[in-house]
Amino acid sequence: MSDFDSLAHRDVANQIHPYTNLAQHQESGPLIIERGNGIRVVDSAGRAYIEAMSGLWSVGLGFSEQRLVDAATRQFQKLPYYHSFSHKAHSPSIELASRLVGLTPDNLNHVHFTNSGSEANDAAIKIVWYVNNALGRSAKKKIIARKQGYHGATIASGSLTGIPSIHQDFDLPAIPVRHITCPYYYRHAHPGETEADFSRRLALELEELILSEGADTIAAFIGEPLIAAGGVIPAPEGYWQEIQRVCKRYDVLVIADEIITGFGRLGVMFGADYYGIQPDIMVLSKQLTSSYQPLAAILVSSEINEVLVNQSARLGSFVHGFTTTGHPVATAVALENIKIIEERGLVENARVVGSKLQAELRHLSDHPLVGDVRGAGLVAGVELVADKVSKKQFDRAGELGAYIFRRAHDYGLIIRAIGDTIAFCPPLISTQADIDQILSAFEHTLRDATSWANAQGLH
Ligand code: PMP
Repeated sequence: MSDFDSLAHRDVANQIHPYTNLAQHQESGPLIIERGNGIRVVDSAGRAYIEAMSGLWSVGLGFSEQRLVDAATRQFQKLPYYHSFSHKAHSPSIELASRLVGLTPDNLNHVHFTNSGSEANDAAIKIVWYVNNALGRSAKKKIIARKQGYHGATIASGSLTGIPSIHQDFDLPAIPVRHITCPYYYRHAHPGETEADFSRRLALELEELILSEGADTIAAFIGEPLIAAGGVIPAPEGYWQEIQRVCKRYDVLVIADEIITGFGRLGVMFGADYYGIQPDIMVLSKQLTSSYQPLAAILVSSEINEVLVNQSARLGSFVHGFTTTGHPVATAVALENIKIIEERGLVENARVVGSKLQAELRHLSDHPLVGDVRGAGLVAGVELVADKVSKKQFDRAGELGAYIFRRAHDYGLIIRAIGDTIAFCPPLISTQADIDQILSAFEHTLRDATSWANAQGLH
């Protein structure tokens, strides 16, 4: 077995769904990552890779930011743990809540914390249900999400996720959720349909669904401003405006899941800024701490908060929370992380370096395997197809993506294959030279993939 074959066996993760393929890993074990340096990580054999996925779309500041280590150490020394129950609080979580209120859209003025994105989306749904119960709208509980949206893997957030493998054999969806068409212009637009027309059609679908289910049963619409894990799918022109118009008409709350798009990923602070979304609830995680600590935040509007506070006063308290909610070390790291993003102009960096990534990937559009190149800022997707003109997908879906995923390791590059879409999501600290290296490694991989696809008779 050649080095490459053994690497292939070790690394073939079935990337059609976001989790690893256990059977293959049991055979040869995972790739062990030992340390990090800037945008690179090093495996147990000493091989370095550019982490062009920021880990799980999350390590904005790269893998060796001493200031985050120092912030954690200072907080560990001062107060390593305290909770937020029974009328107690601690400074880092209070300060972070106030920083987040300052950064996010004006109507979002109150913050809840959790430890993960999945928990945060669960909590957002609990808040929506609680508020509707308080308002006497006990039937208004269904959530609308999109096919191919990713919102987590717990019972509620996994239900919101619109990816079949997240549901399969887990008895999900287990909450009342309806999944509507993914705003995937490349695949779902009718021939000749403009982006704006496509957006209007999807808004009409939303409206018809609300009417057929009954507006008094629909509580909220949840969406990632740009769908990431489901295939890097930017919202088409006018999409969010159309969706919000319908939501407003039927008193349906808008939840922006900014777990990937938050903190500069699209070249502006939030996806809401990029697309002109005015969410009632915004959910943040990942780049909030650059994943150096587990943390997520749910921001809610004053209107929602007022109902929540009044109802909690009636019931005695808001009976929700976790032992490590708003953990002092995690919130201290988040504060430092945000400070660094601002001091170093990393949102602007993502815009500038991201436009280079987007432009140069689009140069690959003529490649015979490349059907679509899409994305915004520092997140991009390259969809590979069997036939460019008809957009035909490969009969053996995901095989080429899996080949590219593992072959890229040989060129020192970690990317992700979502079926046959290759995703890029490099850290916010990436430089133009880093982007050149990512593109060069990817071009080598794509060249090999072309020969491999021919040899395999992929079509
Ligand atoms: N929402 C989005 C948009 C995500 O990308 C993710 C994680 N990939 C989640 C929610 C779930 O977050 P976590 O894995 O921290 O539970």
